[in-house]
Amino acid sequence: MAETVFSRIIAREIPARIEHEDDRCLAFHDVAPQAPVHVLVIPKRPIPALTALVDGDEALIGHLVLVATRIADRLGLAGGYRLVVNCGRDGGQSVDHIHVHLLGGRALGWPPG
Ligand code: AMP
Repeated sequence: MAETVFSRIIAREIPARIEHEDDRCLAFHDVAPQAPVHVLVIPKRPIPALTALVDGDEALIGHLVLVATRIADRLGLAGGYRLVVNCGRDGGQSVDHIHVHLLGGRALGWPPG
């Protein structure tokens, strides 16, 4: 699989503002935030997109979501927040390594663009 900017962040080859790390995932602040809080939660295993998930990945995906909710609590997003996973070009995915966007800190519009 092609290396992405996210595998380079995991390898600490490029810097990031890290919010959480454990054996399965890393969470860091987005370099171009779209809301006052914009954190990305990524698996350490470089899964390119939702379309590449296989049976057995349920716990990993659930873990990413749970970590995102804990970060939301820690960062004080009591008023609510949004988790987003873009998939493919039409879905707006620009980095081919699955990531959960945690967006919050302002009222978010719906539907997204
Ligand atoms: P997506 O468009 O859903 O693939 O989201 C990719 C996200 O990665 C975008 O919000 C980018 O701003 C973010 N991003 C790209 N490079 C970096 C980086 N070096 N550090 C943190 N976030 C990044």
